Amino acid sequence: MQTEKKDIRALTKEQLRDFFVAQGDKAFRGNQVYEWLWNKGAHSFADMTNVAKATRQLLEDNFVINHIRVDQMQRSSDGTVKNAVRLHDGLVVESVLIPTETRTTACVSSQVGCSLDCNFCATARLKRMRNLNPDEIYDQVVAIDNESRLYHDRPLSNIVFMGMGEPLMNYNNVIKAIDKITSPEGLGMSPKRITVSTSGVPKMIKKLADDEVKFKLAVSLHSAIDEVRSHIMPFSENFPLKDLRESLEYWYSKTKSRITYEYVVWKDINDRKEDIDALVKFCKYVPCKVNLIEYNPIDDGEFQQADTEAINNYIKALERNDIVVKVRHSRGKDIDAACGQLANKNEAAPQ
Ligand code: SAH
Repeated sequence: MQTEKKDIRALTKEQLRDFFVAQGDKAFRGNQVYEWLWNKGAHSFADMTNVAKATRQLLEDNFVINHIRVDQMQRSSDGTVKNAVRLHDGLVVESVLIPTETRTTACVSSQVGCSLDCNFCATARLKRMRNLNPDEIYDQVVAIDNESRLYHDRPLSNIVFMGMGEPLMNYNNVIKAIDKITSPEGLGMSPKRITVSTSGVPKMIKKLADDEVKFKLAVSLHSAIDEVRSHIMPFSENFPLKDLRESLEYWYSKTKSRITYEYVVWKDINDRKEDIDALVKFCKYVPCKVNLIEYNPIDDGEFQQADTEAINNYIKALERNDIVVKVRHSRGKDIDAACGQLANKNEAAPQ
């Protein structure tokens, strides 16, 4: 029986070197092939022109090179670009390029679909099909870096893990992808320019702290009252705010890195004075800033953006307490590329 060939890009450089040694070849051959795979972006073994034919055949017999393919690119009137990214097994995820005057940010996916059940998010309606591999995450970033160079004449400057999926539910692969993105052998980006956003999985936040990661952390809070939060994000019933708070205190004690809370204010859900008071109190536990995100409706009557007065009340209360708050307006709404809108709406027929 023919066993399925392994994705060669799942191997570390060390493992590739070991493979060649086990074949009676030189370890150096592993470096050469690794460079083709990661620096020169080879899509086939035949591309590896300085590798002997017999060696290429050996690779062909043992491995495949899986690559993502950008199937469809949609451009918003505000310059935002959404990529529909086809994976080697035909599944599709989305990633977004968000340009501003001075920066280009890539918003990337970490899972196909999402296992969480946030009631206001379109991705939550897609079943979680699988985790993305490190190379599939890395490739999304490379694709956006190329688009940034092409359309904006500058490299990518920032990355946010705010696309499809919950990054901390695909912990190892996300960490491996970030290692590659930040390594001089990959894109050499500073981890300070990378933000991982989580809906708040306390155990994994502690693990991040223990692993002494250097990137930034954002938490989708949306309410600092347990009953309200578990109404809008039902999974959070298993992760009470007390545990979340404790994990964030631990994160800060280890990393000294300020946390960003993402927060949407909805009408009749979290626009009362007690909601504001609870957030202000929660913000005092750990150094943080608050991003008030504009709500992007996902055809559901239950959730409606709160009125301006409620949002202003939030801003006033936070500022009065010396908490940094910014209002984030959505980008790419016309192409369903804004926060919470990634749902493969335009997915081409499966291949
Ligand atoms: N699972 C991770 C990352 C993906 S969501 C997380 O929850 O943080 C990225 C951000 O978009 C989160 O802050 C999420 O709460 C927010 N979001 C989801 N749906 C939204 C919507 N319809 N309008 C505005 N923001 C939304």
